[in-house]
Amino acid sequence: MATSPPRSDDKSDERGLAHQRALMVERHVAARGIIDERVLKAMREVPRHRFVPQNVAAKAYGSGALPIGFKQTISQPYIVAKMIELLELKGTEKVLEIGTGTGYQAVVLSKLCAKVFSIERVNELALKASEIFRELKIHNASVKVFDGTYGWSDQAPFDRIIVAAAAPEVPEPLVQQLARTGRMIIPIGPEGRQRLARVIRVGTGIKIEDCGSAEFVPLVGKFGWPG
Ligand code: SAH
Repeated sequence: MATSPPRSDDKSDERGLAHQRALMVERHVAARGIIDERVLKAMREVPRHRFVPQNVAAKAYGSGALPIGFKQTISQPYIVAKMIELLELKGTEKVLEIGTGTGYQAVVLSKLCAKVFSIERVNELALKASEIFRELKIHNASVKVFDGTYGWSDQAPFDRIIVAAAAPEVPEPLVQQLARTGRMIIPIGPEGRQRLARVIRVGTGIKIEDCGSAEFVPLVGKFGWPG
C-alpha cells in the first residue's frame, strides 16, 4: 500500500480513501475470517488515516499496527475487528473501553453500540482523541484521563468492556463493573506470551474463554503492570 492518503476533503480524494478502506476490510479483515457485517460496515466508514500520525498515514489502510507516539500503537485492523466481533454488539449496549489511544477503536465501537466510555492514561492521546470525536461529530463517545484498571465506577455497570492493552490478570474492578449478562474482551499475559480472553460473569466468579494469541502494549496501572 504505497499511496499516501491525502488529508484534503476533496470529493475524489474521499472516494479514493473509501476505496482503500474497502480494500483494507476485504483483504485484511474479511479474508481473515471476520463475518459480522455490522463490524465490516463500520470499518469501511471510519477514516483510519485521520487517527494516525501524519508520518505513518500512508500505511493507515495496510494490515499492520502503527506507532502513535508515547511508545504506544494503534492495533492492526484485524485485531480491532476480532475483538469487536467477540463483543457481539447489537446496538443498545453501554461499552467501557480501556486504552483510548488514537480513539479509532472507540469510534468504530460508537457506530455499533449506544454509548462508549473510554479511558486513557496519556493525557495528550486523550486530548487528541476527544478532538477527533468532535471533528467527526461522534456524540456518543466520551474520554477521560485516568488509570483505566479502576474502571469508570460512576457509569457502571457496563454491558461490554474492551481492554486494548495486556494485563497480568483480569483487573478486579472491571469484573465488578461488568453487568451480570455482560462480557469483557481483554488480552492477558506478559510480552510475547499474551492470550486474548473473553470473560463472562458466572455467579460471583468469572469464566474465561481463550480466543487466541495476542500482541498488545502493557496495561499499566494499579490493577495492571507497574509503571
Ligand atoms: N484502541 C487504541 C489503541 C490502544 S493502544 C486505538 O484505537 O488507537 C493501548 C493504549 O492503552 C495506549 O494508548 C496506552 O496509553 C493505554 N493504557 C495503558 N495502560 C492504561 C491504563 N491503565 N488506563 C488507561 N489507558 C491505558
